[in-house]
Amino acid sequence: MTKYIFVTGGVTSSLGKGIISASLAKLLQARGYRVTIQKFDPYINIDPGTLNPYEHGECYVTEDGAETDLDLGHYERFLNVPTTQANNITTGRIYQNVINREREGAYLGKTVQVVPHITDEIKRNMRLLGESGEYDIVITELGGTVGDIESLPYIEAVRQFKWEAGSNNAIVIHLTLVPFLAAAGELKTKPTQHSVKMLLEYGIQPDILVCRTEHHLSQDLRKKIALFCNVNINAVIESADAKTIYDVPLLMLKEQLDRTVLSKLKLPLKNEPDLESWKEFLGHLKNPTSEIKIGLVGKYVELPDAYKSITEAFIHAGAYNECKVRVECIHSEGLTEDNVKAKLGNLDGVLVAPGFGARGIEGKIAAIKFIRENNIPFFGICLGMQCAVIEFGRNVLGLKNAHSTEMDENTADAVISMMEEQKKITSKGGTMRLGAYTCELKKGTKAHHIYGKTKISERHRHRYEFNNEYLAAYEKAGMIASGVNPDNNLVEIIELKNHPYFVAAQFHPELKSTVANPHPLFVKFVAASIEHSKKKI
Ligand code: GLN
Repeated sequence: MTKYIFVTGGVTSSLGKGIISASLAKLLQARGYRVTIQKFDPYINIDPGTLNPYEHGECYVTEDGAETDLDLGHYERFLNVPTTQANNITTGRIYQNVINREREGAYLGKTVQVVPHITDEIKRNMRLLGESGEYDIVITELGGTVGDIESLPYIEAVRQFKWEAGSNNAIVIHLTLVPFLAAAGELKTKPTQHSVKMLLEYGIQPDILVCRTEHHLSQDLRKKIALFCNVNINAVIESADAKTIYDVPLLMLKEQLDRTVLSKLKLPLKNEPDLESWKEFLGHLKNPTSEIKIGLVGKYVELPDAYKSITEAFIHAGAYNECKVRVECIHSEGLTEDNVKAKLGNLDGVLVAPGFGARGIEGKIAAIKFIRENNIPFFGICLGMQCAVIEFGRNVLGLKNAHSTEMDENTADAVISMMEEQKKITSKGGTMRLGAYTCELKKGTKAHHIYGKTKISERHRHRYEFNNEYLAAYEKAGMIASGVNPDNNLVEIIELKNHPYFVAAQFHPELKSTVANPHPLFVKFVAASIEHSKKKI
């Protein structure tokens, strides 16, 4: 029978529920359990695909093409197990299902209400992955903070779930804050007490408290929290600030979070967690033998969460190369042909980021021209690849009007144009080309060398594509399509023949980079940037 762990948050947002959930899952997985994590988000959008990155950070895309919360990225990076649409549910989706069923007549004669109909639908979704038989333990992270109006139906659903499943089959871990008051020189437990009281008001007694803190929790303080919040002292877990999120599983191991969880769920400890390769990764991460500076050119750079998977993929690839990768965010709107040398000249490599719309596009194109002409390693992702195609069209092929029809619908040289299948689509939610598609690599190309095989599968999120009418001219001039979708001939990877490292992808390799499997495109780009940095010296 599947066991369920719910993770709630109290006091404030941004305490790192996603990382705690992923770390606990990692420890349980390392003990031999089959674990998955799902996230329930209390907003009304059906999925975060229609949210601006400024609102909600990066939109993470799964193999099956779901546009999801960026926490799913952490789950995959920690566990190395793919997630699906079922791993991310929003209030919008819950209501949509219930309302659709009401229209079908499924509730004949009944008043459709938050309790029981919405809470039943939430519980049905909470159980879905567990019922697949693929997992021993399902961890459910509830977005938002206890006490938020919009979180209420979820908290009520957890109360019912816990009661129905029994205390050995479903437990609640509550993440809270124990702040340090500098003036008093003390850690304060009151916010934790209040947030647990609030959970109690809703009928939930948390089983374990994970306390975020900037200082160590003394035994006395743990005792006090245990006493006021009705938990055992070994269920008060300290979660101190960590240097890297990848330290958190080891910190939780030290606090015996996994042992406490397993004992509450009446599950055997099995083997001690096998974390050898995780520790090896951390060893490389913390003891680099070289250092490089990579420019990340994008328009959402004010918010680091907007490029979460990219910055994490650099951490994996850096550790693999035993190199500290410093990522410098560069705003594409501020770049022009006149200042690119000053802004990019010292970098060891440049990544031009994905994105939508015209803002900052000319800055990206100016950056790519400089990189191409000065032999600096280049990595383009999605819009980054499209910009490389536009730049090459304008400055090498002499197509003055080379552009994407996303930016200029009537351009004379639409080197990037809307995919045929997209032309009839008018609504925005979930309608891009999404999820995993296969791609064939041309033998002997850089892409082939990077992957070491000819057939790959990568995840997508776009509407526009390389216009194949121009392909022959591009290839003749030295920009080749080294990766192509075998079913519809969409260009997936371009590269330059006469450049030390100039590779760009229409897909999003960052979404598949994990601690266990750093992505080859990031690994090789970092390696090329290390080479470039040596040459500079
Ligand atoms: N805006 C571009 C497209 O829709 C690129 C998308 C992206 O970078 N994810 O094709």
